[in-house]
Amino acid sequence: MALAQLIDGRLIAARLRKELSEKVEKIKKRGRAPSLAVILAGEDPSSMIYVRNKEKYSKEVGIEASLYRLPVQTGERALLDLIGELNESPDVDGILVQLPLPPHINAQKIIEKIDPRKDVDGLTPWNQGCLMGRREGMVPCTPLGCMELIKSTGVSLEGKTAVVVGRSLLVGSPMAQLLLKENCTVIQAHSKTKDLFSYTRQADILVVAAGRPGLVSGEGVKEGAIVIDVGINRREDGHLCGDVVFEEALQKAAFITPVPGGVGPMTIAMLLRNTVKASAFFLPQSSDLIKLEEES
Ligand code: NAD
Repeated sequence: MALAQLIDGRLIAARLRKELSEKVEKIKKRGRAPSLAVILAGEDPSSMIYVRNKEKYSKEVGIEASLYRLPVQTGERALLDLIGELNESPDVDGILVQLPLPPHINAQKIIEKIDPRKDVDGLTPWNQGCLMGRREGMVPCTPLGCMELIKSTGVSLEGKTAVVVGRSLLVGSPMAQLLLKENCTVIQAHSKTKDLFSYTRQADILVVAAGRPGLVSGEGVKEGAIVIDVGINRREDGHLCGDVVFEEALQKAAFITPVPGGVGPMTIAMLLRNTVKASAFFLPQSSDLIKLEEES
């Protein structure tokens, strides 16, 4: 069997950013640029890198990004007040709270304070409900990006068996919903699943989002599968790796995402897309320009 074809997330994300920047250019001519407020509480090194990238790519496509850096000891009340202000601000379209928050802060309470129209991470109960109820809403960026990668293969999804490993509200659960929406038959595995490979081996589409390096070896992959590796893990030598044993899965899959360079760049591209989408609520004069591919 031939080696799997690589799904190049960097390339696909760059193409999406280019399309977005053309849209943003037109929106700007009618008023102002879409804008994103990013809140970072504390100094988690990974979070600092993620936030820097979000700022960098916002700028690239012409989105106005403002970073609110708060000291680690910031209290819950202060954070809730800041979100309240951003909710009210006519100059802010999207609000993103970088997770994880310091442990003394109740993250759920903070997320629930975000105006669902500005919730570009799709984490408020309103937006989760929209996804579940097949209503228009904000969908979390990482699963949205995974869907784009899956669709880039050109493989028809209807009736295919999809297995999602992971059930977080950020990745695994919305991913399963999106695959269901595409008429896949979906199995969702998690940390309490017994005999994981008995499920993953059935997967025409396998999405692994567990944060466990090497969790899925070649043995767990069906011949000809589409494998999307969401995991980002740092190895002892400092390099990043996914949850899938890449070299082994490469021998069996038909398509596979690398780590890095697969899902990561797509997450940011989808954040930018959600920000432009959110701006339709607040820049009504541009809403005709903001119709996005996912809605067409
Ligand atoms: P999480 O810790 O919230 O959830 C992990 C999920 O994996 C849980 O639902 C758990 O039940 C499941 N799990 C854990 N061990 C398992 C096992 N042995 N067998 C089966 N299931 C198991 O993490 P998350 O936020 O969903 O993120 C998952 C991974 O994706 C992490 O590595 C994270 O860094 C990465 N991630 C990447 C991106 C990106 O842009 N590439 C974005 C978000 C998260």
